[in-house]
Amino acid sequence: MREIFLYDDPATENLRLPEIAEYLRGKLPGFRLEVRQNFFEHHIARLERVERGRTIDQVAWEIASSRVRDLMRLNDEIDFEPLYGEVQFERRGVIAPSRKPFGILYDGYTFVRALYRLIPQEERGSDRLHMAFTNQLIGTWSPEDGRYHARVIICSIPCLISTTGVVEAPAKPGEFYRLKRALEALSRGHVDYSLFVKLKEQFSDRFVDYGDERLTEILKGYAMQAVFYHFWGGPFCDDPDCRLFNAHRQEEMIRAQVKSGRLCDKHEGMLKRSGAHK
Ligand SMILES: [Zn+2]
Repeated sequence: MREIFLYDDPATENLRLPEIAEYLRGKLPGFRLEVRQNFFEHHIARLERVERGRTIDQVAWEIASSRVRDLMRLNDEIDFEPLYGEVQFERRGVIAPSRKPFGILYDGYTFVRALYRLIPQEERGSDRLHMAFTNQLIGTWSPEDGRYHARVIICSIPCLISTTGVVEAPAKPGEFYRLKRALEALSRGHVDYSLFVKLKEQFSDRFVDYGDERLTEILKGYAMQAVFYHFWGGPFCDDPDCRLFNAHRQEEMIRAQVKSGRLCDKHEGMLKRSGAHK
């Protein structure tokens, strides 16, 4: 039987993982679903004491190594060792993920490699999807414009979904940036925070902000992208009203995940034919 393991992120307050699991259960009744606590907490808790310390050190070092050093240069091309303080910072994050702040951008595929190490042998394999939610900011290198871009999802093993990425990765409307710049110019750099909040409110239809109630609804679609990636090889769709649409702009993401909130006929049909519906 195919299995899906969902890992919660205690650092994202408005993430309601049981609701995402319910959505997946409705679409994939032929799968076994399990909701787990945070990825690190779950996998580290089951290790023997000696192994636990060693694993935490190693994972912390690998995560520190995955920090993007320069937005305009591929990490692999930079020769560096993470600093002691950076490794200690990551160590604390592995032990207590609920208290880890976000703000650092990580190379998504290197980050995921550190997580992969924690998945036990008996839970690996193509029949098992591990889907981990995180508040950390993750990016991938884009060869087209030679820089890193923040992402919502890293399709790999495990699939990593960033709640901060929902806010930061898809571009906000150009008009918002123009008005924000105008506001900054008018106030000579000291923007009255209440004006800034009002500006954001005017655009609530067009982009998602921190603490946004639509977060869980939006993440259902990204969870489904992880499912299609892992079991059927293709996470994305060209239909802008399909939850698998690869949105690069906030408005596109809101359209696919909130206004439409459904899969296109082709992908819904794929679920039915795959035996996911039994
Ligand atoms: Zn589709």
